[in-house]
Amino acid sequence: MAFCTRRAAAIASFALATCSLAAAAEPVEAVYSLVRKEKPAVVETLRQLVGIESGSRDREGLDRIAEVLKDRLAALGGQVELMEAGADAVKLFDTPPRTGRTVVARFEGTGTRKIMLLAHMDTVYPSGTLAKRPFRIEGSRAYGPGVADEKGGVAVVVHALAVLKSLGFREYGMLTVLINGDEELSTPGARNLITRLAAQHDVVFSCEPSPAPKDELALATSGIAAATLTVRGRPAHAGVNPEDGRNALLELAHQLLQTQALGDPSRGIKFNWTIASAGTTRNVIPDTATASADVRVRRIADFDAVEQAFRAAIAKGHLVPDTQVEAAFERRRPPLEVTERSRALAKRAQAISGELGRRLGLDESSKGAGTDAAFAALSGKPVVLENFGLMGFGYHSPDAEYVELDSIEPRLYLLTRLIMESSRER
Ligand SMILES: [Zn+2]
Repeated sequence: MAFCTRRAAAIASFALATCSLAAAAEPVEAVYSLVRKEKPAVVETLRQLVGIESGSRDREGLDRIAEVLKDRLAALGGQVELMEAGADAVKLFDTPPRTGRTVVARFEGTGTRKIMLLAHMDTVYPSGTLAKRPFRIEGSRAYGPGVADEKGGVAVVVHALAVLKSLGFREYGMLTVLINGDEELSTPGARNLITRLAAQHDVVFSCEPSPAPKDELALATSGIAAATLTVRGRPAHAGVNPEDGRNALLELAHQLLQTQALGDPSRGIKFNWTIASAGTTRNVIPDTATASADVRVRRIADFDAVEQAFRAAIAKGHLVPDTQVEAAFERRRPPLEVTERSRALAKRAQAISGELGRRLGLDESSKGAGTDAAFAALSGKPVVLENFGLMGFGYHSPDAEYVELDSIEPRLYLLTRLIMESSRER
């Protein structure tokens, strides 16, 4: 009896082990072996792309990197166009006269589903940064300006296409790659192009980095606005006749205090004054003063609520009589809002990562960053997921920015497999 029970238990546990083995997903070997083979080429692409400086205001550098990407995408079989910002470009207060062109590559397939891969090639670094901080590999990390944000994402796009080409995979209807050169300027030139093209697709995979050490996709991103105040007063000698002046700095300080509590952490609304300036000379009552606040929201509707509260607070009145206060509220990019459809697609991405034994995180917190994924989602038509780039850290700081080289294989596998699965979906 005892023997029997032990034996039954042994059989049961064997069955369980077999069962869980069968349930444990395994990588699709044809894809995974190509992905592994591709890794050194990805590192070389990172070296090549980081080696071309492409700050958002460096049109010459942006032209050079756009030409390189045009050639790479054409060699992979794409119909490639370089598009100037068109009549639908917007001018924000800090938009330069010429922004970078957008690389658009189209790959026609045999199926019906339309898939868009979104990335940006511009960086926050002015030209000259690279001479001080060249591309380098240290241990399992590659460092360099823009390597994570988001040349790593561009590399994942290019090499996912290379893997699909090696597989002879063309089961999508259309695969469109859009790489813009003005993301770090809040995408004034390409935003409407992104929205328009994305609306013609079923899914959009955007390739910002995953914040290392996290291996995750983002289902939501922040909406960003800039609130500004300009106060005009009247100058006077601060020693001789200060009473004739109207102190713009003092009025600005009053307005900043009136508007300091517009944030609402429970709803993800952040409103923080970050820049101010006033006056030119110590002995002159300042006649102008300006300040800017950084505003973040999680829902598009919250922009209206914050703007109304901002304008209402200013309308409460002045401290310094005879001063004029102008308020502006510039919506720089909308938030990406999570949807049931994006949750479902993200689950599939999780299952694909699971094939490599990895646990892919899903972030719905819209922690603070704003990205072009939101412009892609604006029409409400495509399902949009963000953070398909490499795992990286330290972006927007030239000496610290890196990508994890160990994330190349899993990330390349994830995007390639998800393109394949999305192509086959009915
Ligand atoms: Zn980026």
